[in-house]
Amino acid sequence: MVPYDKYVVVTCNNKEPTKVVRPKCSVSCIGCKICVKACPVDAIGFDNNLAIIDYEKCINCFICEKKCPAKAIEGEIDRMKEAKAKKKMSEQ
Ligand code: SF4
Ligand code: SF4
Repeated sequence: MVPYDKYVVVTCNNKEPTKVVRPKCSVSCIGCKICVKACPVDAIGFDNNLAIIDYEKCINCFICEKKCPAKAIEGEIDRMKEAKAKKKMSEQ
């Protein structure tokens, strides 16, 4: 479950090894762990052939989405901008 104030998600949910899943799906996680290494706050772990985001730590920087070569992480930057704009309006 993704908290309402977090805007990145690992879209792949297939726990099979890369060699099994990749021929069936072009956007599956390939287990490269680039996202794990790239996250500036160590919010990404890896288990059962899948990257897992710890939303307690995630700071919505979108680096993982940009770095994932398989497009297995999706970011919703527009939704985040909208939420920030609404918050700003409500504070005025
Ligand atoms: S959005 Fe940034 S902080 Fe959150 S999991 Fe991705 S790289 Fe880490
Ligand atoms: S960068 Fe993408 S493909 Fe690589 S482990 Fe992370 S989610 Fe999977």
